Amino acid sequence: MDVKLAAKYPFLKGASAYLRETGVDLSKLTTSVAYERARFMGKERVMEALENGMIEDHPMASEVDANNELLSYPVARMIVSAVTDQMLVTRYAIAEAKKADKHLRGEEFTFIKSVAEELGLNVSVDEDTISVDFTDFLRFSAAMRSKDWKLINQRLQDGRVIVTKQRLVRLIQQMLTEKISSELPLAVNDDIMNAFSQDITVISKIMEEKRAEFKARSMGKVSIIRFPPCMKKLLTMIQSGENVPHTGRFALVSFLHTLGMNSDEVLETFSSAPDFDESKSRYQIQHITGEISGTEYTPPECSTMKSYGICFDPDSLCKKDWMAHPLTYYRSKGKRFKPPSRK
Ligand code: SF4
Repeated sequence: MDVKLAAKYPFLKGASAYLRETGVDLSKLTTSVAYERARFMGKERVMEALENGMIEDHPMASEVDANNELLSYPVARMIVSAVTDQMLVTRYAIAEAKKADKHLRGEEFTFIKSVAEELGLNVSVDEDTISVDFTDFLRFSAAMRSKDWKLINQRLQDGRVIVTKQRLVRLIQQMLTEKISSELPLAVNDDIMNAFSQDITVISKIMEEKRAEFKARSMGKVSIIRFPPCMKKLLTMIQSGENVPHTGRFALVSFLHTLGMNSDEVLETFSSAPDFDESKSRYQIQHITGEISGTEYTPPECSTMKSYGICFDPDSLCKKDWMAHPLTYYRSKGKRFKPPSRK
């Protein structure tokens, strides 16, 4: 693989092989003046992912430019790993995958197929028809929200889903997001921590601000002040990475969805959890909101919440004789609420 191709697709095995063959000493990346430009570009890579959700291309007029572009990738991964923030990992992985997607759209099909296969997607070509295994299709298209990605709307042939070249590239983007997310954070040593200490502080501070901003924005439609104690507690537990039983996740997602939040908004609300797994969470949320299951679930009533052991800290409003449902609690805090009459 030549250096320009390696710089465009630094996640490929060929790019790692290129670095090995050319004798780049990755241990010197953090300290040597020779790699100052690569370190600067690596920081930019992370900042762009964080701030814009996209990583810009730099002109690669010379081999030196391409080499710096390529080396900025391992630098960025070191920085992301050193910050140890799952939300940063997810944003960075998405931005890297989008960058690759942009490049792949201009490539020959043979190359695209080789990238898909290296990432583990089995691609078949029969004359002009491209197809992928339907289980792979289901797994990697779960993140696509539009109806035309649903399995029911696909052309199937012998257990395989027929895709266009563009769709194949989009599937690769999703696979790459998952691959990069699963690889990070890497173990970082003191040299890395020291070399990037200032950047780690700056990025951590931005992450705190972003987290507060996301929280405010994603909860914008619903008023957290009106949440019943059970839902407040479940939300705090999920956002801080505590182990929440399935019944609790189900109750909270269905509660938020019933209040008008869509799957993406619920996902964003959960994304601050330190152990946030975007793909797994998205699947669970889409199941509860009916995008996968076809059934839109509503939250359990108070008696069921109690039997599940997730009726946390009931307050005086919870103890009203007409209080039977977390949604009633939420609505009762609205201005025009009239308590239901009891027979
Ligand atoms: S009584 Fe109902 S609304 Fe109140 S905390 Fe328990 S489950 Fe939630």
